[in-house]
Amino acid sequence: MDKTFPPSTINNEDSSTLLSKGHTLTGWSSVAVHSGHKQDPNYAHLVPIYASSTFVYDEAEQGMRRFSGKEQGYIYSRWGNPTFTEAENKIAALETFGVEYNGSAVQAKGTLHASGMAAITTLMLANLKPGDKILTHFSLYGGTEELITNVLPPLGISAIIADLRDMNKAEEWLKKDKAIRMLYIETPANPTIQCVDLEALTKLAKQYNLITACDNTFATPYLQQPFRFGVDFIVHSTTKFLNGHGTAIGGILLGRNIEFMKTKVYVLAKTLGGNANPFDAFLLINGMKTLELRMERHCQNAMEVAKFLEKNSAVAKVNYTGLENHPDHKTAMKQMRHPGAMLSFELKKGLQGGIDFMNKLKMCVRTVSLGTCDTLLSHPASMTHYSVPKEEKEKYGITDGLIRMNVGIENIQDIIADLAQSLE
Ligand SMILES: *Cc1c(COP(=O)(O)O)cnc(C)c1O
Repeated sequence: MDKTFPPSTINNEDSSTLLSKGHTLTGWSSVAVHSGHKQDPNYAHLVPIYASSTFVYDEAEQGMRRFSGKEQGYIYSRWGNPTFTEAENKIAALETFGVEYNGSAVQAKGTLHASGMAAITTLMLANLKPGDKILTHFSLYGGTEELITNVLPPLGISAIIADLRDMNKAEEWLKKDKAIRMLYIETPANPTIQCVDLEALTKLAKQYNLITACDNTFATPYLQQPFRFGVDFIVHSTTKFLNGHGTAIGGILLGRNIEFMKTKVYVLAKTLGGNANPFDAFLLINGMKTLELRMERHCQNAMEVAKFLEKNSAVAKVNYTGLENHPDHKTAMKQMRHPGAMLSFELKKGLQGGIDFMNKLKMCVRTVSLGTCDTLLSHPASMTHYSVPKEEKEKYGITDGLIRMNVGIENIQDIIADLAQSLE
């Protein structure tokens, strides 16, 4: 199951002081810990929380040079901030570590945002104009679906929501509709942990000159690096596994075209005003240092939980890409290091079974969201999707007895014991 990802130098510009010392990091966790960090002028060990809205000039002429772009430097925190920069460069380093595409090392630049949704909004508005269409898979994060079906259409941008696990269907759409400008994918995705083939879809999209973007939130760069397949943009809700502790909402947009990121995306992001804040960026930086350790444990526990649930008589079905019976098992294994920390399962006793199960939990936490150290469970039929009509829910695989689970990093025997007593 494990894949060895090739070692490489950090190619991202400004991504590490180690690079300027001519030193090469060869391991993933070393990059997670060290990349992006710059020596602080006061020799603080960690990057300070630069809680300052604006930055000052030694003389008027310096202001002129900064504003005209002749001199590098911070101006106003909506435009950029040193604490954001460390987080941006760390994520860019992780998404590009060991990554080659078409025979050359991939570089990327990231722009930190106030939320995953703010990053996705910048992605769409930076790349699309009235008349353009997005081709996407139907299993999408709720906020993204809301954006493309309700917010973007009045701006003349619409979406075709298809089943992109079927490559022939995907190509049919591309042949038929010349207005399709962007392929937007999210893999793995809620609630049945569907995966789409990053390599095949990106290749197809390139033949039709599409912009390609991937929401890599569920996987994180530790499990999956979409730039390997030539994807142009990656978005993350950093709220989830990257922060890792559930302490802040945040997002990032990363692009391989550095010039585009420095011009179009920079201007748009600072004008839309969906910037991050220094405190949340600081929490994110510290969270990411343990990403490899956390993901290893999350995934190990998730596999154990999936195997336990499969054998439990109260459970009708388990959706986990680590299990060979998941329809996207092969796709997941092809492009991911491990199958991830998210799974869902169906209780035989439907809605009431789901409510009873949720109420019995003693250690695991009843809540939505994901990516935290603790195990989180949600029951979409009684929580997030309570007011959605039944047919609509079932289209997305949300049955009355479906439970979604973010498997945490607690000791596995405690997770299983809590599930076992709640399933009784
Ligand atoms: C949470 C999430 C988002 C939205 O991110 P926010 O930080 O809540 O704005 C987008 N995509 C996926 C896959 C998510 O899980």
